[in-house]
Amino acid sequence: MMPLVQQAKACALCSLRRHASQVVVSNDVWDARIVIVGEAPGPVEDRRGEPFVGPSGQYLRQALQSHEIGPAHITNTCLCYPPGCRTPTRYEILCCKRWLHWQIDMIKPDVIVAVGGTALRGLCGKGGIVRLRGKILESEDVRGRAYRVFPILHPAAALRREEWKELFERDIARLGDL
Ligand code: SF4
Repeated sequence: MMPLVQQAKACALCSLRRHASQVVVSNDVWDARIVIVGEAPGPVEDRRGEPFVGPSGQYLRQALQSHEIGPAHITNTCLCYPPGCRTPTRYEILCCKRWLHWQIDMIKPDVIVAVGGTALRGLCGKGGIVRLRGKILESEDVRGRAYRVFPILHPAAALRREEWKELFERDIARLGDL
């Protein structure tokens, strides 16, 4: 596992690496039953080298903790910070898919949480996060093994709009039952 972490950290397959301080690979919870997949590191994550440690990440982590969900392996669809926090392109998502699927293959989780539209696109190849959030979808890994995907709104979006915050918290509560 560690050589793969090192390989991921050395990846420069797409142009995101040129602007990022480092490749942000979670190096901790490899025996988790849940994998949480966000969009990409933000500026705080880029600096610290840990996923979901900025303001919206802390909100997500607190929500998981308050429902006693975890331990979870937390990662992103793209492992490098996109300049100006822009949305990763289709090409960048495709380039980084190898690392996402490697993590899924290592962990073989019961459920993968797609946090926001980019993660939904990366995991299931489809858009429509507002319509699909809270539903259980199926996708498959590179070996053709099926896995369950549970899409939720991104915590950054939830922090912007009260109605989205309610949906976000409702979905996190439901995740505890899956
Ligand atoms: S975003 Fe992913 S594919 Fe692109 S350089 Fe970073 S680790 Fe490699």
